[in-house]
Amino acid sequence: APALVLVATPIGNLGDLSPRALAALRDADSILCEDTRVTGPMLARQGITTPLVPLHDHNEAGMAPRLVERMQGGTRFALVSDAGTPLMSDPGFRLARAAIEAGVAVSAVPGPNAAVMALTLSGLPPHPFLFGGFLPPKPAARTAELGRLVAAERAGLRATLIFYEAPHRLAEALAALRDGLGAARPAAVARELTKRFEEVRRGTLDALAAHYAAHAPRGEIVVVVGPPAEEEAPAADALDAALRRALAGG
Ligand code: SAM
Repeated sequence: APALVLVATPIGNLGDLSPRALAALRDADSILCEDTRVTGPMLARQGITTPLVPLHDHNEAGMAPRLVERMQGGTRFALVSDAGTPLMSDPGFRLARAAIEAGVAVSAVPGPNAAVMALTLSGLPPHPFLFGGFLPPKPAARTAELGRLVAAERAGLRATLIFYEAPHRLAEALAALRDGLGAARPAAVARELTKRFEEVRRGTLDALAAHYAAHAPRGEIVVVVGPPAEEEAPAADALDAALRRALAGG
């Protein structure tokens, strides 16, 4: 069995906890989790008594070497975050990298991920996509980040963009996206995925920014932004003309 298993857990609907996830959590010697107050009750409901060890952004780097040593000594760990797929805007990357670099066997139990679910429901091209995690909350840093994306698009990047966002910042984030990427850019806001009030609202960045400025949203939110429109293809006309000239023996 792998010494480290990255286990995805639900993003709101407990029915999404898979049989393989349950087995991995039951079989591990210890479960590394972000917050024992979140993971503890979830395991208790399933009758799983595997001991929990907190692993979060503040202790992960410090704990990783010791945890990898224990893996090398035969201890089998499962890693979960509070919700969804660990490492994805959640702790676990430093530990996974340390284990991989040490040659420890690492596996994963795939499952819920808000970014991918929002992408598939957005009606926007699924690939290529760029997962941006959370945009910086401070306006100056956010503008700088969007500036880097705009520069990448000018250089030819044609990707659907995915961001996590807090509800109280959604309207200003959409306004910043509209100002940076263009008012007419198609987008989608996915809210409360897999939960009772799941909702996906699709429209231009302009329309979505206006809607959420007027209706403060609640709950958990993913923003998906479509790629820039294909540039008009003057090349086709030019090619036609060149072909006609060539056929005419010009
Ligand atoms: N690891 C998680 C995953 O795989 O999706 C994401 C963790 S990140 C700390 C939490 C953010 O993910 C939320 O602020 C929200 O942007 C997004 N999110 C998580 N669950 C969601 C849901 N049910 N509906 C919409 N967005 C969600």
